[in-house]
Amino acid sequence: MTELAATERALMTALNTIREHWDALVEPLLDASASVGTEPVTGGKASLTATEARISLRYETILCLNSWARIVVEDRHLTHALPLGHDALGLAILLERHAGWLSGHEAGPEASRELSSMAARVKDSAEGNRSAKIQVGRCPETVWVDGDTMGRCAGNLWATIRFEEAMLPKAVVCDGPDAHSWAPHEWAALGRRVSPVEGTETVA
Ligand SMILES: [Zn+2]
Repeated sequence: MTELAATERALMTALNTIREHWDALVEPLLDASASVGTEPVTGGKASLTATEARISLRYETILCLNSWARIVVEDRHLTHALPLGHDALGLAILLERHAGWLSGHEAGPEASRELSSMAARVKDSAEGNRSAKIQVGRCPETVWVDGDTMGRCAGNLWATIRFEEAMLPKAVVCDGPDAHSWAPHEWAALGRRVSPVEGTETVA
């Protein structure tokens, strides 16, 4: 694939991802997305912050789409059926229609990089709305501390559940520096080592 074709394809993929996940960014946040477990329940405050982050991501995405669309409109002297400056879907469709031209523009690679990173953030935020992160307990693994002493991993264990995936997490992971993780077939053994209450777990 030529560099031009690769840029065009990256642009199309990014714009498609933004369009596909845009609606989810306006959905109200699910209460279940707030963390549960031994953390203090700060539901109201946490979801407000998440909502604010989402509004700011929408605004940033619109600005990004708008600035690239403006280059297309101005350089190509487009005058018909132009989307409004805040119409994310309309702007994305316009950019898709001119992705071939934009990929050949001197700023094409930059457009592709910027829109791809925007698309990844939109996708993450949209998918986050359909998942819940549940604290399972403290990580039971033993790790090296200070080079020559062994100690218990300081991480907490988390299971991320996506609502469209039959409510079963893919893995249980620890948020410590070693990012320990357990696949489904290891959960039974893990369950015997973890206590959800701080300080009472058994170290195997
Ligand atoms: Zn760990």
